[in-house]
Amino acid sequence: MASRADLARLIDQSRRAVVFTGAGISTESGIPDFRSPGGVWSKMKPIYFQEFVSDPAKRREAWERAFTGKAGWTGRQPNAGHYAVARLVARGKASAIITQNVDNLHQDSGVPADKVIELHGNATYATCLECGERHELEDLKAGFLKAGEIPYCRRCGGLVKTATISFGQSMPEAPMLRAEEETLACDLFLVLGSSLVVYPAAGFPQLAKQNGAALAIVNREPTPIDGYADLVLHDEIGPALSEAVPAD
Ligand code: ZN
Repeated sequence: MASRADLARLIDQSRRAVVFTGAGISTESGIPDFRSPGGVWSKMKPIYFQEFVSDPAKRREAWERAFTGKAGWTGRQPNAGHYAVARLVARGKASAIITQNVDNLHQDSGVPADKVIELHGNATYATCLECGERHELEDLKAGFLKAGEIPYCRRCGGLVKTATISFGQSMPEAPMLRAEEETLACDLFLVLGSSLVVYPAAGFPQLAKQNGAALAIVNREPTPIDGYADLVLHDEIGPALSEAVPAD
């Protein structure tokens, strides 16, 4: 079993790292892992993309979840793990963060938005499904809560949806492509808090490794590719990263 000092050494040796984050980094901020027992999907059924598009009742339900914070995805603060990752970016050590999370906590910890590649979108704002126009949830909330108005695009009248990638919705092309480019350009691929079971996202660590990068995994639970990694730490992310990437 590796130590936090081993992780610090591996990071030190890297010239261009990519950080890959999953639910585990945000559980320390109080955001439940939606796939775990007690997580969001054990309490309510996901609304599939096709249902959202075709069924006004499902749209209403989705917006109710978004505006009442029922899913528990947003409204939390970054933790020590997010800040350690932000230091890696600020110091030029990490070129990008690839995340499966939709909580915006990397950006909230001070990482420039263009360094965060979101594979599953972002739950803290909405976009038009037709023209892509961004809408702030605050602007849509009053009309929905007071008058029950389902939001439509102010620009083109199209359907507006939180900017997450729903079940049944295809993976976003541009972020997937960028994630692949970053993965192939890195010499260290650092996985933080992902169980690495959801494809295609889980393919990135393997791609990095095959391409000659070192692979490090920090996760509380074992992952299916632990045996493939150069370093595995079954540890809390905030404390482990705080030690491996100390503040100045
Ligand atoms: Zn539009």
